[in-house]
Amino acid sequence: MNNLNFEKTGGLLPVIVQDYRNLQVLMLGYMNQEALNITRTTKQVTFFSRSKNRIWTKGETSGNTLSVKKIISDCDQDTLLILAKPNGPTCHTGSQSCFATQGNFLYELETILEDRLRSDDQNSYTKKLMDQGLNKVIQKFGEESVELIIEAKDQNKNLFLNEAADMLYHFLVLLQAKETSLKEVEDKLIERRKK
Ligand code: AMP
Ligand code: ZN
Ligand code: ZN
Repeated sequence: MNNLNFEKTGGLLPVIVQDYRNLQVLMLGYMNQEALNITRTTKQVTFFSRSKNRIWTKGETSGNTLSVKKIISDCDQDTLLILAKPNGPTCHTGSQSCFATQGNFLYELETILEDRLRSDDQNSYTKKLMDQGLNKVIQKFGEESVELIIEAKDQNKNLFLNEAADMLYHFLVLLQAKETSLKEVEDKLIERRKK
């Protein structure tokens, strides 16, 4: 990280910013040495804007800043990847990402469920379910599992898909209720693969 090759690309390194929770690509910008220093010290993603021709802290007017979690350089030190927590939509169009892509939706759904839990949204099914406590969440997961088993034994693909989606959703709600992240479960699986 201390041997970054700024010269190769005319003093500016391309920087890819990803949401640290779901790895969705949020935007691409450029940093000179000064922008990188500011980013490191303030922990707020700061670029050198080629159009503004000045240092630009993302979110300086909109408030939609990017809080740095991790900075990684690539194999030949001429590109940076920043894992960040977006505080609001990253794109000036109001989209989460500047690229019209769908990130890993399971992880995105997990962040949506987290937000619902902390919200006071009375129209949210998730919020209402969680407010009924762990036992209710466990019971719903059990019900959905049984429904999936029933459809698995049948031939209707569409019904099976719907029950599979219901079960995955209720599985994620259960993880929330157990204060466990999907990443922790994934890490368990990765750990097993190594054996
Ligand atoms: P902000 O940095 O979010 O306060 O936005 C200030 C200005 O920067 C906006 O009016 C846009 O011109 C530009 N801008 C903001 N976000 C982006 C982005 N993700 N990509 C490119 N330009 C942006
Ligand atoms: Zn490279
Ligand atoms: Zn954009």
